[in-house]
Amino acid sequence: MANKNEFVEKMKITFLGTGTSTGVPVLGCNCEVCRSEDTRDKRLRTSALIETRGKTILIDCGPDLRQQLLRAKVTKIDAVLITHFHYDHVAGLDDIRPFGEVPVYAEQNVLEQLKTTMPYCFSEKKYPGIPKIELCEISEKPFWLEDIEIQTIRVLHGSMPIFGYRINNVAYITDAKTICATEMNKLEKLDLLILNALRHQEHFAHFNIQEAIAKAQELRAKQTYFVHFAHTIGKHADIQPVLPENIFLAYDGLELQI
Ligand SMILES: [Zn+2]
Ligand SMILES: [Zn+2]
Ligand SMILES: [Zn+2]
Repeated sequence: MANKNEFVEKMKITFLGTGTSTGVPVLGCNCEVCRSEDTRDKRLRTSALIETRGKTILIDCGPDLRQQLLRAKVTKIDAVLITHFHYDHVAGLDDIRPFGEVPVYAEQNVLEQLKTTMPYCFSEKKYPGIPKIELCEISEKPFWLEDIEIQTIRVLHGSMPIFGYRINNVAYITDAKTICATEMNKLEKLDLLILNALRHQEHFAHFNIQEAIAKAQELRAKQTYFVHFAHTIGKHADIQPVLPENIFLAYDGLELQI
C-alpha cells in the first residue's frame, strides 16, 4: 500500500481546454492552425480539473464544459473555482446540475454577476431541476476546502483584478497581464505553474508568449505549462520544440500527475 503522506499530496491535473475565448479552430477561419488535423491544435475554452485528497476541483466552466466533462469522464465535482466573470470562463455553469449541490468559489463581484445572469438559480421560488449552486465568497486570504488549502493569487487582466489559485505546489493563472511583486512571492517553489500565453503579438489584457516565458523563467517552477491560446500561436508541433527547457504548451486532454 502507498505511504499515506504520498497518497495525500498526490495531485492530478487534467487540461479540459486550452484555447482562448474563440476556441481553436476559430469559426470560419481557414488558416493552417484551424485546418490542422493534429488533435493538440483543437482547443476548447480554457478550464482545468485538479484532483487531490479525494476531491475533484474544477477551475472555470466555459461554454464547452459539458463536452469537456464528458470527454474527461468526470463523475463528480466537489467545488468550482472561478477566476473571473468572462463568458469563456463562466458560461457552462448551468451544466454542473447533474453533480448535485456544488459550492462555487469566487470573489464578490463575480458572485453578483452570476446572480444577475442566472437569476432562476437564486430566486425565492425555484423552478424544479435548476442547478443547486452554493455561492461562496472568497477574498485575497487563503481558504479551505475541508483539508485542502487554496491560496488566491491576485493578477490583473488588463486593468481588471481577477484571481489565480495555488493548491499545494500547483498554481493556475489564466488571463493575466500583470502579476505584482507580492503575488509573485506566493508563487515560489512550484512543481507546476499553469500560465496564460495568448499569442506572439502584444495584447493589452493577456501575456503574449514572450511575456509568459519571461514570467515562467522568473518563477522557476519545475515545469510550466501554457494555456489560453489563440490560433495565431501556430501549430503545437512547430512551437513546442522552440520553447525553453521545462516550458510546455498544454493541450486539451493532457493529464499530469504531480
Ligand atoms: Zn479568457
Ligand atoms: Zn485560424
Ligand atoms: Zn478574460
